[in-house]
Amino acid sequence: MCRVCVKQELPQRGSICLESGSYLLNFASCKECGRREPLKVTDKVDEEDDDGEEMVTYKPDVCASCDHVVATHEYTFKVEGRYQEYTMTCLLCGTAADSVSILPNDPTENTNHLF
Ligand SMILES: [Zn+2]
Ligand SMILES: [Zn+2]
Ligand SMILES: [Zn+2]
Repeated sequence: MCRVCVKQELPQRGSICLESGSYLLNFASCKECGRREPLKVTDKVDEEDDDGEEMVTYKPDVCASCDHVVATHEYTFKVEGRYQEYTMTCLLCGTAADSVSILPNDPTENTNHLF
């Protein structure tokens, strides 16, 4: 984690849960090379799969110019009863939580969901 490169630490993003992301609006500039370019999407993913119902992925948000790691992007997904729950925790991309009913035609379904 690096606090120098971000404008705001852990901004609140409401229900915007991104599995991987580089929230460029919150990226000040890289402290190592001074550039402000779209962060590299790495394919280095650590997944933890406990019981098949919960998934956690960690992806570093990395400077495209010098490989400086700005933040570690954590994304979780789990099934909780009738709902699928998503969370995102990232110094750069912020924190968010969302839940979606897995039943069709549920009146409480969140129509703002991105997936
Ligand atoms: Zn940094
Ligand atoms: Zn850099
Ligand atoms: Zn991130």
